[in-house]
Amino acid sequence: MHYKEFDEIYQQETTEQFKPSSKKLKSEEISAGIFVNNFIRLLVACDFCGKYRCIYSKTVLNDVEMEAITQYFDNIIYSCGLPIVSDDHFLANTLYIHLNLTCNLPIEHNYYSCRLKDVDLCFWCGSEDELLEIPSEMQENWKSIYPPCALCQIEGKNWETRSPK
Ligand SMILES: [Zn+2]
Ligand SMILES: [Zn+2]
Repeated sequence: MHYKEFDEIYQQETTEQFKPSSKKLKSEEISAGIFVNNFIRLLVACDFCGKYRCIYSKTVLNDVEMEAITQYFDNIIYSCGLPIVSDDHFLANTLYIHLNLTCNLPIEHNYYSCRLKDVDLCFWCGSEDELLEIPSEMQENWKSIYPPCALCQIEGKNWETRSPK
C-alpha cells in the first residue's frame, strides 16, 4: 500500500529534519521566481512562534502529496527557517519555503494576497485576535495594507503598507 510506504518514509526522516543543509540554500536560489502568492499551496504554523509560513510549489499538490505532507507535519516539530523536508524526501524538489525566516520576522507579504488566506493575521505576531480595523483613509491611499493587532500596536508596531494608489 502506498500510504504505508509513505508513513515509513516520514518517520525515518523526522530525525533528518534539523540538519542544516547547504544544498537546500542553493535550491532556494535556483527556485527564484517561485516565491509568489500564486504558488502558495499550504501554510505551516511554526511550533515555536505560531506564525503561519507559506509553502510554495510550482505545481498544485495532488491528493497523495497533500496527504503526505500534512501527515509529515503532524509528526515533526517545525521551526521558521528550517527546510521543509530533507533532501532525499520525494517532495524535496517540489516544495519550497523561505529559509531566511526567523521567528522574529513578520508574516510574509504574500500571505495576504494568496488564495489560501481565510483569516487576516497580525502582520507582526501572526495573531488572529484584536486586529485593528483598517482606517478608511489608509484604504484610499494604499493598495496593500498589513494590519497590526492591538498588542503589537501597544508595543510600538504600526501599519505596514505597500503600493500607494
Ligand atoms: Zn517561528
Ligand atoms: Zn500582533
